[in-house]
Amino acid sequence: MSGLLPVEEAQARLFALREPLGAENIAFSESLGRYVSQAIVARRDQPAAPLSAMDGYAVRFADLPGPWTIIGESAAGSVPSAPVGKGEAMRIFTGAWLPDGADTVIIQEDVAADGTTLRLSTADTIQPGQHIRARASDFATGTTLVPAGTRLTPGAIAAAIMSGAGQLTVGRRPRVAILTTGDELVQPGHALAPGQIPDSNGTMLAAMLAGEPAVVTLPLHIRDDRTILSRVLKDLARRHDVIVTVGGASVGDHDHVRGALGDAGGSIDFWKIAMRPGKPLIAGSIGDALLLGLPGNPSSAFVTATLFLIPLVRHLAGAPSPLPDIHQAPLASALGPGAKRRDYLRARLDRGALTVFDGQDSGRTAPLVEANALVIREIGVPPRAAGEQADYIAIA
Ligand code: AMP
Ligand code: MG
Repeated sequence: MSGLLPVEEAQARLFALREPLGAENIAFSESLGRYVSQAIVARRDQPAAPLSAMDGYAVRFADLPGPWTIIGESAAGSVPSAPVGKGEAMRIFTGAWLPDGADTVIIQEDVAADGTTLRLSTADTIQPGQHIRARASDFATGTTLVPAGTRLTPGAIAAAIMSGAGQLTVGRRPRVAILTTGDELVQPGHALAPGQIPDSNGTMLAAMLAGEPAVVTLPLHIRDDRTILSRVLKDLARRHDVIVTVGGASVGDHDHVRGALGDAGGSIDFWKIAMRPGKPLIAGSIGDALLLGLPGNPSSAFVTATLFLIPLVRHLAGAPSPLPDIHQAPLASALGPGAKRRDYLRARLDRGALTVFDGQDSGRTAPLVEANALVIREIGVPPRAAGEQADYIAIA
């Protein structure tokens, strides 16, 4: 179908509208899901000295099979008071520094202590150097622990802390406003008059952004009124990096997003994408803010948010590759041919196979409960049998 923008081209144009927002310094406890701006390089060796990996006794391997004289104790958090000499053993605990002279740790289950005398009580072979974590065996000073552009997971946060850094430099989070439009919408949980429906998209989009590096303001709802919409867009643009509208993106008499954007002094960069659902997606700018106009049908809003809103947020927050990963899995049942737009079909990946749902009407919400994948079906592709591969995006 001519005049429709391919998805990848639309995504590239959207990212080209704004550079990432720049960096800020933040505390480790605030850093989950943020993108690291500067590589985190180890400022220390970990461990900083050889450590015991077990509770037991530190000895010289050459002195085996003992017996030994116990000369003291080394516990985590302090430095051993004396070296271990010939015929000597030191009581040692997990994570404690290995005393000088010692080169082997025997676990406490393999020895018997009687006063200050220690004897081997096992027939098992003791290996030289056993149960010792060598200095810098985790990482050495100067090692790049977390490369620039990494999205901080709990594990990466742990490594960043262990590096000896005091704080983190990460990409700033875009401030995102969500604006739902429609005379028919009533706020969640409120009673409905005939002709009204609950506004599910606003809260759904806020939930989709909850785990993302974004500062999201509570969803606003306004009626299908071009004048009000234009005023609200102008106002939101002063305090946000991204304004997401939902609904009113198409060509109906009550679809005011494009008109109101123009009235407010904004401009459209592109409109209409070669995808199903989600064709009427709008991208533009108003002042320093970007406007992303999502279609109102719940599945359309969900799919376009997955492909455009979340990637845009990640791009602005410093993600080097903000697009969702595309995976492959076999189809659990046959799939019909592709049409004139690329399809993003609500589906479920279960035990390695993809079941594409029967009801793909973009107005439906119920399929979103079970959906954990969007199967991608290219324009004009032939039908596929069960067992053939399909591309998909994993969704939360
Ligand atoms: P629109 O894009 O405004 O033409 O809306 C398309 C369809 O989505 C209509 O059936 C609307 O009632 C519905 N819709 C629009 N916005 C929302 C919303 N925030 N929550 C749930 N449904 C919506
Ligand atoms: Mg509407």
